[in-house]
Amino acid sequence: MDQYRDTIRPGSRRLWLVAALAFGIGTGVCVKAAATRSVWQIGLARKQITPKTPIRLDGYAARQGPSTGVIHDIHAKALALQDQNGHRALLITADVIGFPAHVSRELCRRIMARTGLSRAQILINPSHTHTGPTIWLSADGRIPKDENIAVFARYTNTLCDRLAELAAAAFANLEPAHLSWATGKIHFAVNRREHGTRGVRMGVNEDGYVDRTVPVLSITAIDGRPRGVVFGCACHNTTLMPKHTEICGDYAGFAQEELERTHVGAQAQFIIGCAGSTNPRPRGTVEAARQHGKALAAEVSRVLSADLKPISGPLCTELAWVDLPLAPALPREELERQARGRGSLAAVARKTLAAVDAGKELLTSYPAPIAVWQLGKDMTLVGLSGEVVAEFVPRVQGVLGPERLWIAGYCNEVFGYLATASILREGGYETRGLFHKIGAIAPEAEDGVIQALCELARKAGRPECTDAKPKQ
Ligand SMILES: [Zn+2]
Repeated sequence: MDQYRDTIRPGSRRLWLVAALAFGIGTGVCVKAAATRSVWQIGLARKQITPKTPIRLDGYAARQGPSTGVIHDIHAKALALQDQNGHRALLITADVIGFPAHVSRELCRRIMARTGLSRAQILINPSHTHTGPTIWLSADGRIPKDENIAVFARYTNTLCDRLAELAAAAFANLEPAHLSWATGKIHFAVNRREHGTRGVRMGVNEDGYVDRTVPVLSITAIDGRPRGVVFGCACHNTTLMPKHTEICGDYAGFAQEELERTHVGAQAQFIIGCAGSTNPRPRGTVEAARQHGKALAAEVSRVLSADLKPISGPLCTELAWVDLPLAPALPREELERQARGRGSLAAVARKTLAAVDAGKELLTSYPAPIAVWQLGKDMTLVGLSGEVVAEFVPRVQGVLGPERLWIAGYCNEVFGYLATASILREGGYETRGLFHKIGAIAPEAEDGVIQALCELARKAGRPECTDAKPKQ
């Protein structure tokens, strides 16, 4: 995919990096760490969010019809945290595909109105299940006349209200608690970027990178009673395929169910990691999704019963929007040639041509949120946005240090894939451009993300970063 490398304007990188770091850096309130293990105030809340009527499922373009039933209920869950200094934060997880930027903005506006939180104190993570409802609102907030669209616009509008209520409920039941954590491993994820003579296609790449880490956060009452567990896994929730038209949380939904069954009284919350280039294996049956869920739950249970490391405060939350550079449009002849083809590149080329013909000005960058939560010296939670490919993980570990690090993808909003520079040059499904805007992320975006992340981690107080210099 040399088109990207060759068409970047000289000198543009430095400019947008400076702009990125100057724009929107978060509003965290950080106080130096306490020496002893701290007691947190933790609140938990949950709501069932299964649609009451048939609704279009999202995740596979080939599947346009409404849902035909429910395999199991889907949920949204909230974890409210408050450290000894009174600094608060909110994690919302939900069994849905993801939140486009405008929905995320509206959702956070309603949460802030209900809770008084600042935007930097809110982190949202969807499980990216491909058997969940379509999440979408119209730009003006009105419900469209077209009943096919109105169904999921109404659902999303109600969902935003429910999540704001959920946030308020979590803060209403804060109780003293201890936090601790450790990590495990999963083995059902496989890299899906299969290299062949005709380029990269969706398949199985046994040698491709997968982040197998299963981070596990345990929440216990002061008397030791389990109250909650938050766990992660960097694998697409795509065990179920386009032929499946019933609502389901896929492996993540089954894992949460299993953990709540085996750890009575505890709320289980799932955070998806950098799963942009990984799929579960095997796929295609409900039984496979159930088995992956059970395997993940078993690993989480194993970690919970082993040596967990305590997490002290203080809590620091940072958030910034980083301008990701977009590749300039190709010459018209090249766009027309690509548009005649098939696959992801052709789709991007057709969208670009339509925009050019309509006289629209093409974007040169896209603002992507990046969050960093620092919990004492004990854990850093990195919340990248977009469908972050697994190959980003070694790069992040390389600059932040691999220890005491939880790397999540899909956080706050999903604008498209966030691929590394080398993947953008190789091509393949993960290079097909923004979902709701015209444009494709340029390879220079990788360095921009890493540089902004280093800055945020240093600001948040990650010990490994306070002396580190970001790589150029
Ligand atoms: Zn995806």
